[in-house]
Amino acid sequence: MTAHPTSGSSGSGSSSNTTSTSNIKRDASEMTTTSSSMTSTSINNDTPAVVGTRRSSNPLSRRQRGNISTLLTRKSPFGNETGSLPIGEFDVSNNSSNSTYKILVVGAGGLGCEILKDLAMCACGGKNGGGIVRDVVVMDLDTIDVTNLNRQFLFRSKDIGHSKAEVAARFINDRCPWMNVVPYHGKIQDKDASFYKQFKVVISGLDNVEARRWLNGMINNLVEFDDDGDPIPETIIPLIDGGTEGFSGQSRLILPRITSCFECSLDAFAPSKAVPLCTIAETPRIPEHCIAHAYVLQWPKEFPNRQLDADSPEDMKWVYERALQRAETFGIGGVTYMLTLGVVKNIIPAVASTNAIVSAVCVNEAMKVLSFCSQSLNTYMMYMGSEGIYSHTFVYEQKPNCPVCTAHTHHLSLPSMTTLSSLLQQLCDGEFRLKAPSITSSSKTLYMRKPVALEKATRGNLDKPLKELMMSGEELVVTDPVLPETSLGLVVNFSDIEE
Ligand SMILES: [Zn+2]
Repeated sequence: MTAHPTSGSSGSGSSSNTTSTSNIKRDASEMTTTSSSMTSTSINNDTPAVVGTRRSSNPLSRRQRGNISTLLTRKSPFGNETGSLPIGEFDVSNNSSNSTYKILVVGAGGLGCEILKDLAMCACGGKNGGGIVRDVVVMDLDTIDVTNLNRQFLFRSKDIGHSKAEVAARFINDRCPWMNVVPYHGKIQDKDASFYKQFKVVISGLDNVEARRWLNGMINNLVEFDDDGDPIPETIIPLIDGGTEGFSGQSRLILPRITSCFECSLDAFAPSKAVPLCTIAETPRIPEHCIAHAYVLQWPKEFPNRQLDADSPEDMKWVYERALQRAETFGIGGVTYMLTLGVVKNIIPAVASTNAIVSAVCVNEAMKVLSFCSQSLNTYMMYMGSEGIYSHTFVYEQKPNCPVCTAHTHHLSLPSMTTLSSLLQQLCDGEFRLKAPSITSSSKTLYMRKPVALEKATRGNLDKPLKELMMSGEELVVTDPVLPETSLGLVVNFSDIEE
């Protein structure tokens, strides 16, 4: 979930990075002041904030704090800086109309709860109070589990089993009446381009790479181009992506077709560690394989009528003992009860403070791109909190052959006897990491997974060599559900045939 610090900042980007970092620091210190004042102020918007130790000659009222024109007109050492990213220019007159914008929050889990709360606090007073946030749509397909309650603070025990999106929206709307949060309980893939187009900014608090790839593909494809091939600014919807893992996290700003996108940084995420069943059954190499053997293969044999209950200590002890036995047989060390729990439950440690910090950065960026009040993050902020606290911003550069954000034709050189199915397998295993590719040439459909009838009709092509299906150098079009509304241009040259 967190990327490695692969590309550091360099060259022209470094000076603005320093400023971004200090911006974050400044905002963080202001946030502390704001939240402490919030606890000591009554709900009345007009009550002047009681700001304990803050030495300000001009204390702001609660209403003024939530008012965007306060943010835009107040003196600030950073106010008139224009960022290196073309999100627009600071101009008070542009923002005097008190317009509110529609925001999409994807995910209502650990990050999502924090993001919704931060948005509500930024919007204090709503449109009439001068806030720019009011209308928020929150999407999540999950229901609330008891293990969520320690950090997903919008949920209570009575909510267990209910939709995360619905409960979170209701909580925010009840507690912060200036907000209008609309829930959607379902998958992001259920909605099409016309749905995503209505938002001014999208904030993602997703916990898995596949969904983030899909969302990134969708938002990038909403960009339209003018006659010169330049992106039309009004069609660019900033995507702010937050992610956390244990004590580290990251937040990044994606301006589709301008900055790097999520797909550009796919290499920074390790491919999924799915182990083939045959390895588990026959040749275990690491303790995880032995644990998988115990709960995937041995459990159903021993208890054919009972599902393994990962929350039951007896069940887990059984799995642990079997895994240990198997590990000893193969001379593998390292099987522990904690590891067994981790493998079976697929535990990713979740830390509430990391979620709070990362989502605060995300919402801070959202405020900046909505109001142009300051320069935006360029483009990646990482936070590490396991040993002390450290954060760093750097420019994540666009990948020159990114299938999503740089329109490009990819070239492959393959022997003409390569079968179509082996070509498709290469697209899944190689750098594109596709999931279920379909492929057509200019003259015919080579293989389509949907609809069923077409799959049946084209299935026979899978075992045919490429030379029977296409000419060398012919351009093929590849589509895949992991990249919505994107098609990959692919030119295959036969390595064994002279052109
Ligand atoms: Zn990209």
